[in-house]
Amino acid sequence: MNKQLRLCFAALILIAISGGIGFFVYRSVKASSIHTFSFDRASKKKNIVPILIVGSGCAGNAAAIYGARSSIKTIVLSGHQPGGQLSGTTRVDNFPGLFGEMGPDIMKKLEEQARHFGAEYVEDAVKSVDFSSWPYRIVTEEGLEIYALTVIIATGASPRLLNIPGEKEYWGKGVTTCAICDAPFHKGCDVIVSGGGDSAAEEALQLSAYAKSVTIVVRKDQMRASASMQKRLAEVPAISISYNTEIMRIEGNGKEVTGVELKNNKTGETSHKNVSGVFLAIGHEPNTKPFKDFIDLDNQGYIYLKSRLQTTSIPGVYAAGDCEDHVYRQAGVAAGSGIKAALEATSFLVDQLGFNEQIIKKLEPNYLQIDVLKAPQLSAISNMAEFNKLLHGKGTLVIDFYTQYCPSCLKMLPYIQVLAQRYSDTVTVVKCDAGQLGELAKKYNISTVPALVVIKDGKVVRSSRDAMSKQELDQFFAEIQK
Ligand code: NDP
Repeated sequence: MNKQLRLCFAALILIAISGGIGFFVYRSVKASSIHTFSFDRASKKKNIVPILIVGSGCAGNAAAIYGARSSIKTIVLSGHQPGGQLSGTTRVDNFPGLFGEMGPDIMKKLEEQARHFGAEYVEDAVKSVDFSSWPYRIVTEEGLEIYALTVIIATGASPRLLNIPGEKEYWGKGVTTCAICDAPFHKGCDVIVSGGGDSAAEEALQLSAYAKSVTIVVRKDQMRASASMQKRLAEVPAISISYNTEIMRIEGNGKEVTGVELKNNKTGETSHKNVSGVFLAIGHEPNTKPFKDFIDLDNQGYIYLKSRLQTTSIPGVYAAGDCEDHVYRQAGVAAGSGIKAALEATSFLVDQLGFNEQIIKKLEPNYLQIDVLKAPQLSAISNMAEFNKLLHGKGTLVIDFYTQYCPSCLKMLPYIQVLAQRYSDTVTVVKCDAGQLGELAKKYNISTVPALVVIKDGKVVRSSRDAMSKQELDQFFAEIQK
């Protein structure tokens, strides 16, 4: 090696070493640069929460049980999908101690257990956080400003999309990621599921109870789903699997999906298949966006854990479940990590910061108080005769279409009840199980839930075919009044 080359080589090594040291110093400074933990300063804040849990899936609810059981005020922000991913599954066979129970039922029980010990729930999601000083500031989508002494991030993961032509256009018109919500709309039809993991298998099984045929398209020559799931698939004659196959385009008639263009990625051959529904089950992305500027994430966007104690790069902030775990992603593992996070949060408060009765007395007047919204339940339409009677009544009629286990429907319902009460002088709001009363769903072209249909003088004057936040519902109902 000549002298010049050697010099160049040495310079490169030096740059690499100093870069590495720089990164290490940056991380250490970032991790330890946090603040003083002063309860005096905390007592000047409003809406204090000692243990704030963000997310209400398995990890969040398990953490809530342990947080609340320690007699420290524990509040859960339920997030966009209360109950998390398990609320969108049917039979669960692999949660230790529970065999064959329905996912949504498990989540209901977990929440009831946490509430029993005193955990409180707010139906809201995180919009932004500021972890640069303590107590940590969290702003929700509904505009609530919270100061948390500890935070457990249990935001889980959301379904990935294919990003192919037609996907956006027909979203909610036959394209969906929620078979448990929309399967009843495909009675006697042909449907397609994209993906090769346990979720795809689960969706296909849910759909097979309604659809005439279910085709699973898998991009590789084998499925990734567990052997037991694949065995269950093989037992259902209506389910078939096409390997090395990808959906290239989703087609429709403007109103709803009519088919897909498929490609065999081995032979390059393309084909067309008529289907009424496209169900995507191609994995998940961690829901970590609101935290990314303050918490170290790994290169796939999952929260980076500093230790096996669910600690993150910020002291007093913990992470649990699918937002930090891209290896196991199992409900049982998520619950276990939620328990660990809650135990660590409690120990951080009590053992490290000296949180005790005296401090609680000082902070308690400024604790976040939750107004439990209680409004009368909506009456349900269960047959066409009831509907016809309402149709010929006075004023505006709003029908809230749902299906039994649809997570977004369950999330929206309490607030729709509040709005129904608020506008009861001018509007009649009723709910309808679209899976049970298919005739009515068909009349209004409902192929996905949640869906709201507004009827005036017998005519549809407005409708919505997607999950809505409280703000969007506010706007929707306000506009009906005009
Ligand atoms: P996985 O990551 O396990 O599987 C995703 C599947 O989608 C893979 O087959 C993958 O293909 C495929 N895929 C990814 N991107 C694309 C794309 N762009 N086009 C076509 N195909 C694509 O995700 P799941 O949601 O299925 O499961 C997540 C976790 O949840 C797993 O640990 C699973 O075990 C668990 N789970 C358990 C259930 C149960 O036990 N009952 C039910 C549901 C989930 P490839 O293999 O080629 O990468």
